This record gives sequence, structure tokens and C-alpha cells, in this order.
Amino acid sequence: MTTSPTVRALYVHVPYCHTICGYCDFYSEVLDTRAAPRLVRALTAELRAQRSRCRLEPLTIFVGGGTPTTLAPDLLARLLAVLAEPPLGAELEFTVEANPATVSPQVADALASAGVNRVSIGAQSFDPAELRVLERIHRPEQVAQTVRHARAAGIDNINLDLIFAVPGQSLDSWRRSLDAALELEPDHLSCYGLTFEPGTPLHEQMKGGRIRPADPELEADMYEATVATLAAAGLRQYEISNFARPGRECRHNLVYWHNEPYLGIGPSASGFVGGVRYKNVPDTAEYVRCLDEGRSPRAQQETLSPEQRARESVMLELRLVEGIDRRRFAQRFGHDPAELFGDQVRRHAELGLLEIGPATLRLTRRGMLVADSVITDFL
Ligand code: SF4
Repeated sequence: MTTSPTVRALYVHVPYCHTICGYCDFYSEVLDTRAAPRLVRALTAELRAQRSRCRLEPLTIFVGGGTPTTLAPDLLARLLAVLAEPPLGAELEFTVEANPATVSPQVADALASAGVNRVSIGAQSFDPAELRVLERIHRPEQVAQTVRHARAAGIDNINLDLIFAVPGQSLDSWRRSLDAALELEPDHLSCYGLTFEPGTPLHEQMKGGRIRPADPELEADMYEATVATLAAAGLRQYEISNFARPGRECRHNLVYWHNEPYLGIGPSASGFVGGVRYKNVPDTAEYVRCLDEGRSPRAQQETLSPEQRARESVMLELRLVEGIDRRRFAQRFGHDPAELFGDQVRRHAELGLLEIGPATLRLTRRGMLVADSVITDFL
């Protein structure tokens, strides 16, 4: 007899946004208010089908996108009510992504009444010109307003997303955005360097010479300033791009970085359940059709070999400041990571990018600056 795998994390993808930002590489589309109820029905159907195949006992739920708060408050409340059944434990971390221009007091109340206790706000910058380069629809002052609405509704765990290395941004301007974010006393900050993903309008602008990416040295200075400023403000860095007050680390993302199982539902959502990694079809209309017709919305799935899982774990856990716990890794995969990936580990250690400790394997400060190239070497 096979037992159903237990899954502790649930991700739900709501693909709608009011407009599409020029740098966006997520699967997102402009809100279609007439189609939105059908999407919510399909999400409900997929969740119920998945619940019958695995034991879903979530310690974290993350509703992302897209911008889930573009949904009308009653529709959003309907979706959240389905996610929150059966009644969830008091320890649950329940996050919804929100954009500053989309959270009215009514939306904040709908979130709080459904049990949402963490809001992740896409602030990105506090400089109006930089927000225009990023094609964001909000104004800087709407970030503070969103934080106020969330706290007034009783949601006290707040993350702000920020982007640095925006074309035209100076180190001073980036410091001003960091300071403005800190004035709002967030519990968590995610700070990512802007990337120019092929296929995005921003990438086209770069190819056409209309905008220039930030100088790599300036980007490195911005990153160093981020780490120093946030440490001084009591936000501990626990991942390459993530900083939190003690106890406010994002438990949902920690599930990803520790390569643990999670269920993903919605168009383009991926998941990892029972050793199988899968991805749903990145097309909302097709996703809804699949669920309406009782078909699986999965576009790809692959059962990972033990070696693939070990390799993925190294790549994900190296992102964490604490690095890889060698003993835990060996218990899980049967080998010490420093031996299993001896060549790569030695090479990066000799370059001063990786530190081999008796209990851990982790990136050095210098390694963090070039993390992507170190990590992809383990592919
Ligand atoms: S709001 Fe977020 S998901 Fe939507 S288009 Fe902009 S970056 Fe993409």
C-alpha cells in the first residue's frame, strides 16, 4: 500500500495584474474581470483534486502572482476561504502578495478576515522616476498607505520588495529608497538586483540602446550598502537577497530553499510532491479549460533521481547565509556534499567564494556577490 505524501506548503498563482511591468518575467496577464470568477472556480477544483492525492497540512500558504489583490474583494475572499479550509492551525504563515495601488481598507479587511497574517508588498523603489523606468503603476506614497491599511486590519507581518540597479539609479538614490523602506518598520525586506530577462520590454529597450544596465561595480556597491544598512537596522540577512527581523524569516521561501515538498496550484505554478517536480500550463484560458473538462493542468512533470535532488538541494541551500548543513545533507542523500561535488567545491573554495567548514558549506561574502555563477556551476 502506498501512503500519500505529506505536504506542508501551498503556493497559489493568481496571474492577474492591472498592467504588465516592463521587466516582468513572471506569468502574468492583464486582469479580465469577466474571466476571474472562472479562474477562482478552477483554482478551487485543482486544490480539491490535489487534496485527495496528498496529505495537505500546510504550515505556510503563499498566494502570489501576478497581483492577487487585483481580484475584487468578494472574489478574493471566496478564494481565500477555500484555501483556509479545513480550519488551519494557529502557527500558519499565510501570505498574500499585494501591490501598493491595489490595497484599499476593504481589501485589507478581506485578507485579515480570511486569516492572512503576512502581506508582501511590491514597493520596488521610492523614487518616482525609477518607478516609471520599471513601469510600475503606483506612487511612492502609496506604499506607506498600503502598510497602514494592512496594519489597521490587524496584519502585522509586512514584507517590502525592493529593486536596485535600476537604469539611471545612483547609490544615493538607492540608499534613500532603503531609508524610506526602513521608516515603515517592515518585518522583512527582499532586495533584488534588476535583471533584463529575454522577451521582456525592458530587455528590448536595452538591446535597442534606449536604456543602459547599471555598471556592475555600482551594483556591487548597492548590494554592499544594502547588507550594511539593513544589518544596522536589525534586519538579519538570511538569504542572498532576503533580510528579516528575528523570527520573521519567510517560512514559505525557506521550504523552497531547503528543497522540501510543496504544492503549487494555478496557471504556470510549479510544485514538488512525492519526488515529482511539475509545472502547470502557463496559459490561464487553457488552465481553466483543463479543470472544467476534468483534465490535469500539468504541462510538465519529472520524477527526480536521488542525484538530481541532491544537486538541486546544493543549489538552493547555498543561497542561504547559513549554507548547507553537511550532516543533514548526508542523512538525506547518503553523501557529504563536499565529497559528492568535490571538483566544484574545491574550485570555488580556492577562489575564496565558498567556505568549507566542519559542519557547513557556504558562500563567502565575496561568493554572495557572484552567487549565480557559483550556483549554476553545480548544474
Ligand atoms: S506587478 Fe509584479 S507580477 Fe504584475 S506585471 Fe508587475 S512585476 Fe509582474
